Amino acid sequence: MNFLFPDPPPAPARAADPAERFARVAVALPVDRALHYRIPPALAADVRVGARVRVRVAGRQVGGTVIAIDAVAEVARVLDLEAVLPADARVEPELIGLCRWVADRYGASLGETLESALPPVVRSGRGVRQIAVVRLAPPFADPARARLEATALLARHEKQARLLRLLAEADGAVKEIDLLRRAQVGPSPLQSLVKRGCATRERVEDPGDPAFLAAPVARAEPPRPTPEQVAAVRAIELALDARSHRGFLLLGVTGSGKTEVYLRALAAALARGRRGIVLVPEIALTPQTVARFRARFERVALLHSALAEKDRLREWRRIAAGDVDVVIGARSAIFAPIPDLGLILIDEEHEPSFKQQNPPRYHAREVALERARRAGAVVVLGSATPALESWVAARDGRLTLLRLPHRVGGGELPATTILDLSHLPFTKHPSLLTDRLRAAIGEVLRRREQAILFLNRRGFARIALCPGCKEAAQCPQCDVALVLHQRAERLICHLCGREQAPSAQCGKCGQPGVRFLGFGTERVESELRREYPRARIARMDSDTTAAQGAHERILGAFARGEHDLLVGTQMIAKGLDFPRVTLVGIVSADTSLSLPDWRASERTFQLVAQVAGRAGRAARGGRVLVQTLHPHHPAITCAVRHDYEAFVASELPLRQETAYPPFSEVVRILVSHPDLARTRAAATKARDKLAPMAGEHGVALLGPAPCPIERVRGRWRWQLLLKCPQSTELTRVVAWARERVAQGAPVRITLDVDPGSML
Ligand code: ADP
Ligand code: ZN
Repeated sequence: MNFLFPDPPPAPARAADPAERFARVAVALPVDRALHYRIPPALAADVRVGARVRVRVAGRQVGGTVIAIDAVAEVARVLDLEAVLPADARVEPELIGLCRWVADRYGASLGETLESALPPVVRSGRGVRQIAVVRLAPPFADPARARLEATALLARHEKQARLLRLLAEADGAVKEIDLLRRAQVGPSPLQSLVKRGCATRERVEDPGDPAFLAAPVARAEPPRPTPEQVAAVRAIELALDARSHRGFLLLGVTGSGKTEVYLRALAAALARGRRGIVLVPEIALTPQTVARFRARFERVALLHSALAEKDRLREWRRIAAGDVDVVIGARSAIFAPIPDLGLILIDEEHEPSFKQQNPPRYHAREVALERARRAGAVVVLGSATPALESWVAARDGRLTLLRLPHRVGGGELPATTILDLSHLPFTKHPSLLTDRLRAAIGEVLRRREQAILFLNRRGFARIALCPGCKEAAQCPQCDVALVLHQRAERLICHLCGREQAPSAQCGKCGQPGVRFLGFGTERVESELRREYPRARIARMDSDTTAAQGAHERILGAFARGEHDLLVGTQMIAKGLDFPRVTLVGIVSADTSLSLPDWRASERTFQLVAQVAGRAGRAARGGRVLVQTLHPHHPAITCAVRHDYEAFVASELPLRQETAYPPFSEVVRILVSHPDLARTRAAATKARDKLAPMAGEHGVALLGPAPCPIERVRGRWRWQLLLKCPQSTELTRVVAWARERVAQGAPVRITLDVDPGSML
């Protein structure tokens, strides 16, 4: 089925030479079949199952993993293996089995899946590399000066201006690859900018984010557990003793002490000679989180993309050598080569970031459950707002429910008030900050406490609307409106990064008087500065955290009380524990509510409940104000009451009625091409190929239909959905769909099992 290798002509199997051996290699390409390569005598000693090798495919060198060693090759003309990578990169047979399961379930090739199970520095086997970093050159070290220069460059050297502006905004050293990616430019405009004397570029050993390894590790005495914590840990201990695979769902409100349960469960696993993996969302993987585990356990390893390559390599080696008891990491740490695995913990298990967006598009929760099944290990999924999939699994007895219904120390959940915006006149866009929210902020400032203001949208104004033709300025390559970033003085596409200068004149009809409507975090910040000129205000979103270490700098300063107000996107929603925060203002709870996605309500509920949980962590108590146009929507009313079960009761029947997960499994087939007619034709053809078999498997086939965002980076996007009842065997449906809709250029067809987003 694959496009790289039309099926080979039937050839006699190569005659066996008793001395010869052939490695069956899963290559890192979307190719289903493993390929045979001759093992040259010089490499024979190093080639074993699980060894990482370099081979040639269609003239190109690619990486791969040896999954078997055979005496006979499948084809007549066999190439030699080119190289074997260092032993660090070996994949244990146990992990090969897990990767095969992942590949089958998520419709990826085994080779690609094995690839993603290893950190890049291990995967490549090339050793630690130096990286290039770029910063403003001394004459332009003042960001204001650099911005001025960027404006001057704009007319003739647009790409250089873009780079310079990003550097000014970052205000520090930026990794070259990050800078080029954000600016969406190649290396040559950067070279010109350096020649011009505006920027400097140097090669350094990647420092990574040293805060992670420098985090304080004062040994902490465990607190006396609450009776609820004792009961939860006891249940986990019994499962560990049984040495059988068990899964738990730990449902605990924010501040109920879930982490203490994780720590005690890990201690229990270690006491039984076993080890653990802790997965946390990327965004919650902060030095503070890591320090909480380091304070309790001696041998902790961290797997995080923010680590320097040499640190990552060292952590990986320690884990594989058995020198580590607890691995902490984001999604991909589920593949950590830790021996004697007894316990897997997933904190904030509902987080979308546990789903990988490119092949293999796995969900770490599902992989964890499968890995535990194979290892006879225990899984604990923790959340205040579990995914409905997990809730239903607990309801049906596939997971055991453990509850922590109260905050530790009897702390009250914060009092939450809904501020209804729906009766305010739309034209004035009043929803930025209502009088009540303003009054509450003023009060916090007077009392010298702190407030967090949350809005899950960055930028200044969301649309540039022409008063004449009523058209909003659009990205020329994407089906979305351009967002005004005021400080940068640019209109930016949030999908592809393309930018243009804002103009008071409509790009379509030329009429003057374009209005900039809607708001993002940047506008909230500027409004607050205007209103409270003496307040110290910080903003945290992906625009202000581009420079290395910026994330930590902002949060550190806020924790030390150097800011009064913190404005931010969901970056500030997770796991932060600031005792001086007594007010959380949700500027708009509606950003995710109207998305055309069956998880829109669930995501909104989770986000609002999560953010609301940031307030009142300490004795001072706290309050939460939620601004919304939908004050009666269950996602909002249940979130402000911190009532997970009420939300479930309202949402589950809707899912059941429409047969969406958790009442089915969805496979999304995305078809894309720069030409609309070809996209539509390819989507229709895919539908025709899938239709007969869909009926046979009892699968509902929906579409083809344009995606909610129909064009991204100049490619049109259409989709088909397969809704598989739980009785169908998903892997068979996936394999069958993959066979029929081959992926490849020029029409790109991708398959996503259990898609995280429908946009
Ligand atoms: P969650 O993860 O459920 O939101 P945390 O684990 O962060 O909650 O716990 C909230 C706070 O309560 C933390 O500061 C933690 O140190 C503290 N804590 C947890 N368990 C206990 C306990 N048994 N006694 C005293 N303090 C505790
Ligand atoms: Zn775009």
